[in-house]
Amino acid sequence: MTATWSVDSEAFYQNAVKVKNNNSIMAVVKNNAYHYGLEFAVKQFSRAGITTFSTTSLKEAVRIRKLVPKATIFLMNAVYDFDTVRDNQIQMTLPSLEYYYKYKEELHDIKVHLEFENLLHRSGFKTLEEIKEVLEDNHNNSNPRKMVISGLWTHFGYADEFDVPEYGFERKAWLNVVNTLLDEGYQFDMIHAQNSASYYREGQTLLPHHTHARVGIALYGSRPYSKLEEKIIQQSLTVKGNVIQVREVNEGDYCGYSFAYEATRNKTQLAVVDVGYGDGILKSRAKHEALINGKRYPIRALMMSHMFVEVDDEVHAQDEVILYNNDIRIDEYTFKGVGANSEQLSAMNHDSLIKEYR
Ligand SMILES: *Cc1c(COP(=O)(O)O)cnc(C)c1O
Repeated sequence: MTATWSVDSEAFYQNAVKVKNNNSIMAVVKNNAYHYGLEFAVKQFSRAGITTFSTTSLKEAVRIRKLVPKATIFLMNAVYDFDTVRDNQIQMTLPSLEYYYKYKEELHDIKVHLEFENLLHRSGFKTLEEIKEVLEDNHNNSNPRKMVISGLWTHFGYADEFDVPEYGFERKAWLNVVNTLLDEGYQFDMIHAQNSASYYREGQTLLPHHTHARVGIALYGSRPYSKLEEKIIQQSLTVKGNVIQVREVNEGDYCGYSFAYEATRNKTQLAVVDVGYGDGILKSRAKHEALINGKRYPIRALMMSHMFVEVDDEVHAQDEVILYNNDIRIDEYTFKGVGANSEQLSAMNHDSLIKEYR
């Protein structure tokens, strides 16, 4: 009996097909595919008909190139190892005017996507004028081996927010950039902006003139915002431990380290479970429940390799204790304030949990 992290491969694949919905999707596979495993995710997404991938790390981009030799691979962070980018035919962001003027010769034969900064302020050109300056300068560069401008992109910082008007602002500013450049006769092989939230806010369709939606979390089975119905996106991940034993404590007994939990009545049944924060269960997650034999029970204390769950007579040693599956989902706890979907996923300790793909 050891706690396990397991993914149902068929459910993962089926969800990808549903998210894609016959649109062109650029699958975001950064951070080891949101911790689902880069090789596994790239393989399943390829099966679902996705041929374009995106990550923030050059190392991952090179691994994707080996897994899918014909794929289009987009690197969202600018790097300085230009030979590796070129040799692996990786397309890359162009993050600023400064970067362009400093490296325009080194960037020869590399396909870049011009990035519009917008409200996130993480990277990109500040204005339409800056973008046009690069387009003009590159056009006038007579060097036959020069940088190739193949794409135009931005990243929305507020697509997951409904209570503020910022998504409307950034969407409008971006569409103005796209429309102005296209009206002026500029052409791009790829135009992309939408993360999962923006993709679903637009009715699971692409914005006008866009070639791809750049989707992450929905492909991994978690909803980007709570207004979406659960059945639209399916979680394929299960994280579970086991009841080691059930112990009885009485009113006033302190359980766990340093008074972690005080029993409030006599004959309280506490299940000792073999999973804890050392396996990646967040402290904020342990303020909620675990699922045992189809019923939810409150978690009472969290330790490195154990937790206490308050149970009843129906729970016994060796019963499975589910922290996450499609009935008790990551996104449910995201919306209860436990932490972002990706934060809960990234916390999982793949060295201590048994890892299985079914
Ligand atoms: C992570 C990321 C995405 C994907 O966002 P999701 O909300 O997971 O769909 C898209 N674009 C950029 C630039 C990102 O960093």
